[in-house]
Amino acid sequence: MFIQQIKKFFLIVVLISCALLVYLWYQDYSFSKNPLSKEIQLKVYEKHQNLKYLTYKNFNIKRVFPITITDKLDASKFGMAVYSQNGQINLYLNKNRFKENENYMINDVMPHEYAHAIMFAIGDFSDENKGHSKKWQTICKKLNGLRCDRFVNHQDILIEKTNIFK
Ligand SMILES: [Zn+2]
Repeated sequence: MFIQQIKKFFLIVVLISCALLVYLWYQDYSFSKNPLSKEIQLKVYEKHQNLKYLTYKNFNIKRVFPITITDKLDASKFGMAVYSQNGQINLYLNKNRFKENENYMINDVMPHEYAHAIMFAIGDFSDENKGHSKKWQTICKKLNGLRCDRFVNHQDILIEKTNIFK
């Protein structure tokens, strides 16, 4: 009788574990297939508005740098600033990183990448510290970046070859 009860108990544990696995898998799946929640999208939008305002106020730059949230970025990257051959400047945020820490993405990564965009806009393509020069840091801080760390060991800017390098 006792053995029977233990068997029953284990069966229940196994079934609950399976259900949990399916649930977690489904959550992952739906996260990768769906856009970010409305709440996060709104926070990103509000932060973008704030960055536009600070860019105008501090640097007198009216230009708006489009931000795209994507799951196509390399997993190691939080964000990326890209200067295209035709002079366009675009920012990308890694959608998968929002899952871990949305506040970090919004308060740290967004001003960090926006500061790279401003550097491009003012024609400073310095490769010092992979784009994290003293000037970049000053800009990042003026955008209320929380951690404008110059000594990051990642490459998050991409400058497509243009005639300015000739
Ligand atoms: Zn950077």
